[in-house]
Amino acid sequence: MKEANRDAPAVSGAHLDISSWEVMDAFQQREACPFCALKASLEEDFVAHYYDEMVMDDAYQGRILDQGLCREHLTRLERYPDRLGLALTLQTLLKRSQQLLATRNLAAVSQVDTCPACQWVEQELQRFLLTAAELFGQNPGFTAVFQQAQPMCLAHLSAFAQVAQAHLRPPRRQQLLTALANKERAVLAEISQGVEAFIRSYDYRQRRQPVDPKAVAAVAKALNLLRGSLASRGNHA
Ligand SMILES: [Zn+2]
Ligand SMILES: [Zn+2]
Repeated sequence: MKEANRDAPAVSGAHLDISSWEVMDAFQQREACPFCALKASLEEDFVAHYYDEMVMDDAYQGRILDQGLCREHLTRLERYPDRLGLALTLQTLLKRSQQLLATRNLAAVSQVDTCPACQWVEQELQRFLLTAAELFGQNPGFTAVFQQAQPMCLAHLSAFAQVAQAHLRPPRRQQLLTALANKERAVLAEISQGVEAFIRSYDYRQRRQPVDPKAVAAVAKALNLLRGSLASRGNHA
């Protein structure tokens, strides 16, 4: 059956359609780098998915036994109200520690070999990066939303550019990379000016002047750009 909505994302495959709407949504929110916003949602999805299914799955617990869990994901699991699920996870991690201790490899006892939760979030994020790259230039609605979106943090800009280079063909690849570079260049220039204005406000000759709120905001924007946005969609972790 033909799509009734002509603004529907022009990508094939049911899973991509769902991804497309999530990507659209993330590019329209006004708080964070679009991929940081998607990552924040994925982190929440992971914890819910983990306690719904993976905590009772022997194969998944086997992966945790084998690879461990990073500190960040253990903390995320701790914040969720499922106490039994947490205790079962701790049981697996304690077993892992005992096994490592039994080998008398004390130096490796806290070692995490690629956290399975980090891997899950990263794989899902790659899917969103690919969806966004496919939407660009194919879906006029998305191309317009892209131009108005919040700036990307540098890590996600780089990841998005890598996906575009690997998966898009010319001329769309070049169009996307040029649009990305132009947008980010403008953002960097604006933020740099704001941070310079903020620094100047500390000059003794400026002390009596109120600091321009835009200069104050530029410091927060610079942090979000360089480090990624931490707070989005109600996730303040
Ligand atoms: Zn980001
Ligand atoms: Zn992790």
